[in-house]
Amino acid sequence: MTRSTYVIGLTGGIGSGKTAVADAFAALGIEIIDTDALAHALSAVGQPGFAAIRDAFGDRILRPDGEIDRGALRRLVFADATARSRLEDALHPLIGAEVARRVEQWSGPYGLIVVPLLLERKGLRSLVDRILVVDCPEEEQVRRVVARNGLAPAEVRAIMATQLDRRQRLAAADDILDNAGTPEGIAPQVLVLDGRYRSLAAAGSG
Ligand code: ADP
Repeated sequence: MTRSTYVIGLTGGIGSGKTAVADAFAALGIEIIDTDALAHALSAVGQPGFAAIRDAFGDRILRPDGEIDRGALRRLVFADATARSRLEDALHPLIGAEVARRVEQWSGPYGLIVVPLLLERKGLRSLVDRILVVDCPEEEQVRRVVARNGLAPAEVRAIMATQLDRRQRLAAADDILDNAGTPEGIAPQVLVLDGRYRSLAAAGSG
């Protein structure tokens, strides 16, 4: 397969600031695929992911209005690794195919795929030319997610326990965006990375 657009895989732990960083790239006109949003869209009633989730978990996972009960699904998969694998087996092939299809339609010099578990799962790695990790201290991740989602710190830590730790993630990075500071620290770093990615894309290095 020939591909004209250079693909950056943006990852980082929960609450590290992936969305904030992706927004800063989007503000520069860079095309973004958010795989969480895609998973959400693919599992609405009538979409292929809906049938896959229903086949895997049965009607207990539906709300009275017939949509997937996301809270129930999340509790189920975080409590049960087998259930988590089943959900991933159901959804990942669909997400992979849709990401590949959208990447083909990109028109800019490079684009960005936001993949929370890029380093933990093999699925989308083959599509990615370069790995950008958003980094902040783990205590800060807990603080931000508690503030954003109203979860208890222990719940945030339970989610973090299913992800790589900070050291492992940094070891896999080609580039690191340091988001330990204020949100104002993001845009200047994104400008530098944008220049780097334009050069890499122009050089055609994969
Ligand atoms: P992720 O997408 O990695 O889960 P978000 O981009 O949603 O992370 O950021 C998590 C939360 O922390 C959000 O509420 C966001 O507004 C906030 N946030 C992001 N970056 C910073 C920062 N540098 N300082 C303080 N809060 C931040």
